[in-house]
Amino acid sequence: MKKIGVMTSGGDAPGMNAAIRSVVRTCAYYRVQCVGIYRGYQGLIEGDFVPMTARGVNNIIQKGGTILKSARSDEFRTKEGREKAYDNCKKHNIDGLVVIGGDGSFTGGVVFNEEFNIPIIGIPGTIDNDIFGTTHTIGYDTALNTAMEAIDKIRDTASSHNRLFFVEVMGRDAGFIALNVGVGAGAEEILIPEENLGLERMLESLKKSKYSGKSSSIVVVSEGDKSGKNVYELAEYVEKNLPEYEVRVSVLGHIQRGGSPSCFDRVLASRMGVKAVELLLDGKYSLMVGLKDDKIVTTDLINAIKGAGDINMELIRVSDIMTT
Ligand code: ATP
Repeated sequence: MKKIGVMTSGGDAPGMNAAIRSVVRTCAYYRVQCVGIYRGYQGLIEGDFVPMTARGVNNIIQKGGTILKSARSDEFRTKEGREKAYDNCKKHNIDGLVVIGGDGSFTGGVVFNEEFNIPIIGIPGTIDNDIFGTTHTIGYDTALNTAMEAIDKIRDTASSHNRLFFVEVMGRDAGFIALNVGVGAGAEEILIPEENLGLERMLESLKKSKYSGKSSSIVVVSEGDKSGKNVYELAEYVEKNLPEYEVRVSVLGHIQRGGSPSCFDRVLASRMGVKAVELLLDGKYSLMVGLKDDKIVTTDLINAIKGAGDINMELIRVSDIMTT
């Protein structure tokens, strides 16, 4: 393996730059050439490449987003598109790829490897934490802290006006962000895609809070809540059934994707980048690097795309007890 390509693909996440830096520096350490591929698979199709050197990734570890840009490529979903991508790998002598992204990006990598036998290693970079084979994805910890700090600020205004706030956080298919941020920010209720806690139960709990003397409340709602209602509909439902509450809605949205990565995400990205390159150099392919019990582990890429691990039921119990 003489030249390794690195790309960021799918939704961006804080810490992707730290992962790029780690891949580039590890290549330099082992005296292997490294090439950056702009805009994920679309850049691979278009041959949008840049040589990467150890000094070229100075001063990016603390930056959010991704210096290589990210994209979603419909063309790569076609055989013709992937053929163009393969031709570019050959033309530029790219012997293996490190793909930093989510499950969609890994699915693309599996298909590409099956068709053209290009060695691929995946690094999980997504704020959703919805990947099997790792307890943490890069960007998740930063997103948790961003959302928690935002809710702390919302609580200031909520308590000044005795209001009930519904705060929507990211997580269409997985409630990891909502559950952890809800506990961390002291929410009264947490609604997640995995669990249908029931609207009646929420009303009961809010009523109880009111009578127990709470002057303000926060309900954290995941984008993909199981109740089937979006955050505005939920707020309307509560306002109708509990007129004593003055309800407001706040959708945190894309701020959760941005910002300087936390120390945890920087360290995780650095460790995963080293392992990804070392796996390629050892001739081990079609794997994703992950974190388990604070050890860097590997999972077959094909298994990593099968979805997230289970939600932490103990955390749901803690949340219930905390709202007593
Ligand atoms: P996030 O979880 O943050 O959304 P992701 O990696 O899951 O990130 P996707 O948009 O699902 O993001 O996938 C990224 C890209 O991977 C797609 O734009 C596409 O180019 C490629 N891809 C996804 N699925 C396939 C597939 N079945 N075949 C070929 N390519 C695919």
